[in-house]
Amino acid sequence: MLIIGAHPDDADIKAGGTAAKWCGLGHVVKLVSLTDGRAGHQTEHGPGLVRRRRAEAQAAAASVGATYDVLDHPDGALDDRLEYRHEVIRLLRTFRPDLVLTHRSTDYHPDHRFTGLLVQDASYLVTVPAVCPDSPHLATSPVILYFSDAFTKPCRFEPHVVVDVEDQLDRQIGMLHCHRSQFYEWLPYNAGNLDQVPADDAARRAWLGERFRRRIAPLADRFRDLVVRTYGPERGPKVRYVEAFEVSEFGAPLDAAARARLFPFLPPTADAASFARKEWADIPEADAETGL
Ligand SMILES: [Zn+2]
Repeated sequence: MLIIGAHPDDADIKAGGTAAKWCGLGHVVKLVSLTDGRAGHQTEHGPGLVRRRRAEAQAAAASVGATYDVLDHPDGALDDRLEYRHEVIRLLRTFRPDLVLTHRSTDYHPDHRFTGLLVQDASYLVTVPAVCPDSPHLATSPVILYFSDAFTKPCRFEPHVVVDVEDQLDRQIGMLHCHRSQFYEWLPYNAGNLDQVPADDAARRAWLGERFRRRIAPLADRFRDLVVRTYGPERGPKVRYVEAFEVSEFGAPLDAAARARLFPFLPPTADAASFARKEWADIPEADAETGL
């Protein structure tokens, strides 16, 4: 499982609960930040902050049995240059994930958008031998899923998978607690509530836990139909905390077999939503020849 975020905390925030579940089952999970996080602080900048954030990320991943790679590209300046696309292609070919999770390319933050785009652009090219011929190509693309977000234009996030993460929430909050420069310094500063951050470490963790639970609680109701279809009429209405993911049309299909293999902790139910690639509606050859 490869969870690719733009910044050293995105993967943890969006998929930390599910990552902890996979780690608990013995899956190899790598979290990746495509940027170095150097823009994520009100007073600290440059190499010192990058070192601090890399150490925080690695501690967060280690706390659940995963690893974290924080790449060297400057935070706030990611784009879709070929060099970055090739780096993502090589990353996928080296790690050979069954599943990749990342941002949608319609997110608010340019680094998130370009991360989604770079993964999207790599998704087919990983199978093309002539692209980055120095790294062996993959026979097939992995399944690619998008993190949930609240943006509606040009299109809403529409999940195909929801995971009840309540049993992992303490561990996920433990991951976020490792990102001290973010959750107790930069993010409260940016939101204008730095004065509310407790001084004591245990009180900070409780404060963060309460805020994070409040932040993700609305997702279960927002996707309640799918939660009930996934967990059934008994458990479904009671599920309180979920992570949700949408299947990318550019990766391998998440058919029933892939769903069972990649999400073994979901109940096997015939009614669960599964997603297969849409049939190609390609341009007829005659039209293609005329350039239409
Ligand atoms: Zn981010």
